[in-house]
Amino acid sequence: MRRNVAFFGAAMFCVGCFSLYLMLESSTTSPRVMNDQDGEVDKIEWKIQEIEQELKKNHETIIRIKEMLSDLSKGDNINVDKLKNLVDQFEKSQNNKKKFIQPQENKPVLLNQTQFSKTGITLSPDTCELAEKPNPVGPNIEMLQTFATLPFSNPDGGVWKQGWDITYSPSRWTTDRPLKVFVIPHSHNDPGWIKTFDRYFQDQTRHILDNMVQKLEQHSKMTFIYAEMSFFSTWWSQQNDATKEKVKRFLNEGRLELPTAGWVMTDEANSHYSAMLDQLIEGNNWLFENVGVRPDSAWSIDPFGQSSTMAYLLKKTGFKNMLIQRVHYTIKKYLAEKSNLEFMWRQNWDLSGKTDMFCHMMPFYSYDVPHTCGPDPKICCQYDFKRLPGGKIACPWRIAPVPITDGNVAQKAETLLDQYRKKASLYKSDVVLIPLGDDFRYDKPDEWDNQYNNYQKLFDYMNAKSDWHVEAKFGTLRDYFEALANREKVKRGERPDNYPILGGDFFTYADRDDHYWSGYFTSRPFYKRMDRIVEAHLRAAEIAYSLARIADTKKSIFDSDKNMAEMLTFSRRSLALFQHHDAITGTEKDFVVVDYAMKLLKSLENTKKIIQKSTEYLMSDGNDVFTLDETRQSQDSIPEKQIIKLSSANERYVVFYNSLASNRSVIVSIWVNSPYAIVKNEFGQIIQSQCNPVWTNNEQYSTDQFKLLFVVTVGGLGMVRYSIEKAGRGENQLHSLAKIYFHSSGNNYQKIFDYQSDRSDVTLENREISIKISRNTGTLQEIKNKLDDITSQVKVEFIYYGTRGTKEKSGAYLFLPDGLAKQLSSPSVFVRSTKGPLSSEVNSFMKNVEHKIRVENAGGKHLNI
Ligand SMILES: [Zn+2]
Repeated sequence: MRRNVAFFGAAMFCVGCFSLYLMLESSTTSPRVMNDQDGEVDKIEWKIQEIEQELKKNHETIIRIKEMLSDLSKGDNINVDKLKNLVDQFEKSQNNKKKFIQPQENKPVLLNQTQFSKTGITLSPDTCELAEKPNPVGPNIEMLQTFATLPFSNPDGGVWKQGWDITYSPSRWTTDRPLKVFVIPHSHNDPGWIKTFDRYFQDQTRHILDNMVQKLEQHSKMTFIYAEMSFFSTWWSQQNDATKEKVKRFLNEGRLELPTAGWVMTDEANSHYSAMLDQLIEGNNWLFENVGVRPDSAWSIDPFGQSSTMAYLLKKTGFKNMLIQRVHYTIKKYLAEKSNLEFMWRQNWDLSGKTDMFCHMMPFYSYDVPHTCGPDPKICCQYDFKRLPGGKIACPWRIAPVPITDGNVAQKAETLLDQYRKKASLYKSDVVLIPLGDDFRYDKPDEWDNQYNNYQKLFDYMNAKSDWHVEAKFGTLRDYFEALANREKVKRGERPDNYPILGGDFFTYADRDDHYWSGYFTSRPFYKRMDRIVEAHLRAAEIAYSLARIADTKKSIFDSDKNMAEMLTFSRRSLALFQHHDAITGTEKDFVVVDYAMKLLKSLENTKKIIQKSTEYLMSDGNDVFTLDETRQSQDSIPEKQIIKLSSANERYVVFYNSLASNRSVIVSIWVNSPYAIVKNEFGQIIQSQCNPVWTNNEQYSTDQFKLLFVVTVGGLGMVRYSIEKAGRGENQLHSLAKIYFHSSGNNYQKIFDYQSDRSDVTLENREISIKISRNTGTLQEIKNKLDDITSQVKVEFIYYGTRGTKEKSGAYLFLPDGLAKQLSSPSVFVRSTKGPLSSEVNSFMKNVEHKIRVENAGGKHLNI
């Protein structure tokens, strides 16, 4: 029976990694022992590491153990028992009184330990070379250089405002090389923006997909592409078998395409690459499992700037080609001038070209119909038959479309062909891609009929005019790329001879003038941070859950807990949803971000529960109860720490979990109710610890809450248990209270921590670095690398931008400052430092700014600002 105890845990994050600690009151753990010899050797190796770190004076013993271990690694296993005895004896000699979790819990379960260097990653000899000189086989268009040298003059290009007056010779196209036109009906569905995901689905998306089934059935030459699996899977779950079979038939016939098939069309600026990949896998896996298809063309028309990381992820996940749209208009023009809008997108570090991804960049302002048939939006708008008179939307250029009739088809076809030819002139292949759609299009049956009937008349007319040398039809993205490859006599996705290689990315995006879309880099920062926290928890939960499932050889209750797998899926999908380009970007309505955040909060709770349950399973025999330390009251509240109540009668246990595959030694900070404590590592050895105050304002600290700092070492994918107990003042020689210094003003009359006034500059240091902070400005001035005795001067300033007084202002999307940044001045600066053997920090309080600088002493440089 489980003890009814208070329990506790905490999480600690940095980008891409995760640790947590959990606390339990019971000490009845019975670790699962691995009996194989490999496990035994790993266990010994781990202990050696600990011994090395903690007890350097015992060199002789270590040398003997290492010699034996070396024999073992050469295949001599005779000494295993001898070696184990030696290590065990050594531990006993270290006054080890307490039980401890066996170190095999640190062993990576899934991975071969030899894959990971214990001293760090070994870099290839090429790595530094790449940093120092240009890639010898690198791209012939490099975006960083292009951005730096291109004049952003924004001249008026005429009907194509951001381009030029395109001219062409009709003789370019011949019977042997006709212009191939693929008109691609599409509907861009944002999974949340000015409506929530559910509202959009109910109001629009489900009708779009219902109509799709009906109209693809009705119109045999019609095609359609649709990208967002979050909506598609929701719709699919509500369909009967007959409808599902129809959809599969359309896919088989190549008339329906689900390009990219990500859970969303991911943002490419704010999203962590890991989350970009997760949402791609989630969508693709769902599609393959439920519908049986895998896409190999990608479609990214709305994210606000395009990242080469997406090209890399797509390449590595089997995509052959991709399309992008939102790129700075001057870059589009620059590439279009030399017909370089199609290129092989290469990673800058790639020396072989194996990362090359065939990419099509759309040339004009937008992905709507006025900006996709050709350079003149006034003309293209007349070919958007949703805008026929009497409809809800009209053409802003005030010339409405008219239905295509026998009487007007000749003139209408010629005008449209002129646009197609001009657009084709910007590319090399004489195959032209014409998207036909917009946001949430095709939600009404009429729209399908109007687009289909009118376009089909135009196609029929064009195709019948043999001297026009054009073949126009509805198609998919795949059709386009296939035809291009055939035309260029390469396999789809391969580089045709005269196509450029491009390196770099397409940030920062501007759609016109100086409207730079970098406002969204910082919009709703609270939720951008929450995204990273959920991502870290999700990754950790997936690993912990997998480890527990693998260990669960007896198919226990844990194994049959389907609910946990469902919780994990919900969390993965909620995080995937948040990667949408109107979610993590912060460009959605207030109530929509609340909807996302509620899902993220639920995901956080789910993943914590999974980590907790998995850890419980792996680390105890069922008599212990684990939990995590942080709680959030609501989706918009910051986490609250629970305080571990220490006692001198009973030890409290804290479990640390490292979800990275490499060993880590980090300083952790746990909140406790006593300033004096004894911390023991997994071997029961007392380790160094430090107590820091929990500040309630600049000068006062809590007298019943304290931060307990100590160094935790956890193996790759490992879990370790440390214990903490309350101590009396001065009882533990390895425990220190931080000392407080006030460098400007300030005083403190509380009794716990020593303090003093120190009106000099502050120096913080560890074994490798020493830094200086000015007491006047409260900012970092100097960093000295002690190892090579090099000192660097540093200047830290806080600046701010004003907002323009014009109609268009900085907002969720745009950054429109009123000029250069101005320095933030503060009438006074309050500077306080807190120093201890493990961690020392300076906190400087200025007007609107708190500047924190911390130096940690856990090996390495560890400077946090
Ligand atoms: Zn969108």
